[in-house]
Amino acid sequence: MSLSQITRRIHTAEEAAGRPPGSVCLIAVSKLQPPERVEAVLEEGHRIFGENRVQEAAGKWPDWQARFDGVALHLIGPLQTNKARQALDLFDAIHSLDRPKLARTLARLAQERGACPPLFVQVNTGAEPQKAGVLPGDADGFIKECRALDLPLEGLMCIPPVEEDPAPHFRLLGEIAARNGLSGLSMGMSDDFETAIALGATHVRVGSAIFGARGG
Ligand SMILES: *Cc1c(COP(=O)(O)O)cnc(C)c1O
Repeated sequence: MSLSQITRRIHTAEEAAGRPPGSVCLIAVSKLQPPERVEAVLEEGHRIFGENRVQEAAGKWPDWQARFDGVALHLIGPLQTNKARQALDLFDAIHSLDRPKLARTLARLAQERGACPPLFVQVNTGAEPQKAGVLPGDADGFIKECRALDLPLEGLMCIPPVEEDPAPHFRLLGEIAARNGLSGLSMGMSDDFETAIALGATHVRVGSAIFGARGG
C-alpha cells in the first residue's frame, strides 16, 4: 500500500457512508518505522502523524518539524503523568486520556500554560484487563469529571480486542460519544479503518498499511 492508496480508500469509504469527502482525518502512525519511510510520506505532503511513546517521538520529530512545515503530532499511546508536561510540549492532540489522575495533571498544566490540545478519552470497549482505557460503564462519569476540570474533550478513542469483530466496539464507542455530546471518534486501524468510517470514525489511525510492517 501507499499513502495515496489509503487516501483513496478513505474517500471511497466516506462516499459509501454518505459523508463529505475529507471529513475523516488520517493519522499516519509512524511509531517504530525506519526514518526513510516517514520522510517519504512527509515528502508526499502528509502532515498528520501518530506516535505511541513520548520518548520516541521526542527523539525523532523535532528535526522533521524543523524541515517540514505544519506537522501535527497525535499521541495515541499511554501517557504517564510524569511525561505529561513533555507530551503537551510535543503533541497537538492526545488520544489516551484514561484516568482521573492524568486528567487532573493535564488540567493543572493546561491552567499553567493557558492552553491544552484537544483530548480524546480512551475507552476499553472490550473490558480487557491488560488494556488502557476507562470501562464503558465508567465512561459517562469520567467524561463529566474531565469537563468539570475544563479539559477540551474532542471525543473518544478505542482499540478493539484483536481477535474480535471490531464493528460492535465501534458502535459502542459511537453510542457513548453521542449520549455525551462528543463529536470526535478516533477508531479504525490498518485492518478495519473502512468499517470504522462506516460507523462514524472522524480520526483513523493507520500505520502498517501506509508504511509497511514495523521493526523493533
Ligand atoms: C500502532 C497503533 C496503530 C496503528 O496500527 P496499524 O495496525 O499499524 O495500523 C493505531 N492505533 C494505536 C493506538 C496504535 O498503537
